[in-house]
Amino acid sequence: MITIDKNIMFVFIITFITFTASDAADIDPLTIPVLESSRGPSIPAEKGYFVDEIRDGVYWVTNGAYQSMFMTTGKGVVVFDAPLSIGANLIKAIKEVTNEPVTHLVYSHSHKDHIGAAGLFGKQMKVIAHQEVSEILTRVQDVNRLLPTTTFENELELTVGNKTVNLRYVGENHSSGNIFIYLQQQKILMFIDVIFPGWVPFANLGMADEVKGVVNAIDLALEYDFDTLMAGHVTRLGNKEDVIMLKNYINDLFDYAEQARQEISFDAIAQQSGGYEHMWHLYNLYYQAIAQRCDELTTPKYLDKLADVASYTQQNCFWVNMSDDME
Ligand SMILES: [Zn+2]
Repeated sequence: MITIDKNIMFVFIITFITFTASDAADIDPLTIPVLESSRGPSIPAEKGYFVDEIRDGVYWVTNGAYQSMFMTTGKGVVVFDAPLSIGANLIKAIKEVTNEPVTHLVYSHSHKDHIGAAGLFGKQMKVIAHQEVSEILTRVQDVNRLLPTTTFENELELTVGNKTVNLRYVGENHSSGNIFIYLQQQKILMFIDVIFPGWVPFANLGMADEVKGVVNAIDLALEYDFDTLMAGHVTRLGNKEDVIMLKNYINDLFDYAEQARQEISFDAIAQQSGGYEHMWHLYNLYYQAIAQRCDELTTPKYLDKLADVASYTQQNCFWVNMSDDME
């Protein structure tokens, strides 16, 4: 029987980790040009925002980092999200294309960066959100995030003038109460902070509260018949291919985190780092090593597909691994 000395084994493993980790660490995101396919329209500097009709009286507004949407109905404007950073420019953008007053504001979820300019619209509108968003906003008491006047649990069909929008909640994902907003006739799906068209997801899979909920929501998003995706961030609108790309990327994160868990030995790291006494230090090294290895395996596959993939894949690996490891 061949026995391998434990110390030799751990030296091999640590050497392997150190060697491969340097590959990912060597990728400087600034040296990789942003992909042409990830770019959106340029933002007029004098205005600070860009507004354009998607189709049939549905418009999107962006400042190059955040996006929101509104639609004319013949009976008033329905606004979907009021991002803090777009602020008063959202009102300017609406006035630029219609004289209809804003009558409804729909929240995608509770986060300040997406609805923190709601207070600018005054209190005469109907504000619609999922009931968990209402509960969160009642707790936080932020005057700039108006409390919803209408809430729902699973689904709400809202008709205003000549347009109908379907609001649906399928469980916690990016956050509690984060909903699908679907315009069937216009083939537009709005789903915020999960898909980042053309770009790597923000840290921790877009700061996902519930990773498995995100995975589930991505599958459900693909069941909708849409050709335009309003995703809330980055530079351009999205489409179904962007959702499929994200699904593949997350599948890879799960697979490569699993591979990393098989390759990396907790005990070997303990021996190399001075034993088990400094427990959190040890756990930190262990989970970092897994995230690094997963990053090395994932990032090269997406360099020509997702902008800035080297910036956040290690954090996305970490989050997916923690979700999988602690299930
Ligand atoms: Zn959010």
